[in-house]
Amino acid sequence: MDSNDHLKWMKEAMIMAEEALAAGEVPVGCVFVRDGRIIAKARNRTNELRNATRHAELEAIDCIIADETLTPEIGQQYPLSKTTLYVTVEPCIMCASALRQLGIQEVYYGCGNERFGGCGSVLGVNEELDHPVHKSYKATGGFRREDAIMILRRFYITENANAPVPRSKANRVLKTEINPPSSPH
Ligand SMILES: [Zn+2]
Repeated sequence: MDSNDHLKWMKEAMIMAEEALAAGEVPVGCVFVRDGRIIAKARNRTNELRNATRHAELEAIDCIIADETLTPEIGQQYPLSKTTLYVTVEPCIMCASALRQLGIQEVYYGCGNERFGGCGSVLGVNEELDHPVHKSYKATGGFRREDAIMILRRFYITENANAPVPRSKANRVLKTEINPPSSPH
């Protein structure tokens, strides 16, 4: 697959992030791709379900695992071994671990997640940390990164405006400049 394919799938993930934004959720969206087609797509639903584990990735994984046509072998240890994830924000530590336990083939993401990122930003759950059983996977960021950052800003700017004590007006101006990614450690 070339870079255009990655951008094409990431655009689909961004559509899911837009759906999350419209629903008042932190705007993160994802698609899982196998054999050149999307087998599941989802977005963050943590507010709607009042459940902090309902991240886009786990929402989609639940659909895949529940679908016998996508996971024909009962008890299959690595149901995602031929599946690639595209997600607008670097998977958090929880999701990065779940993806490794399910044998994800590879991950592409938009922007890094400095507070919770499990693919290098906070912890390298995907490959830096050794695991006695589950093999590592590659996670690459930077696909539609600016779009991913801008949609998060659009969400947080309305959050601030709706807060009981709004933050200073300066914080509510939508910043449009994007800093380059922090250098790898
Ligand atoms: Zn997560």
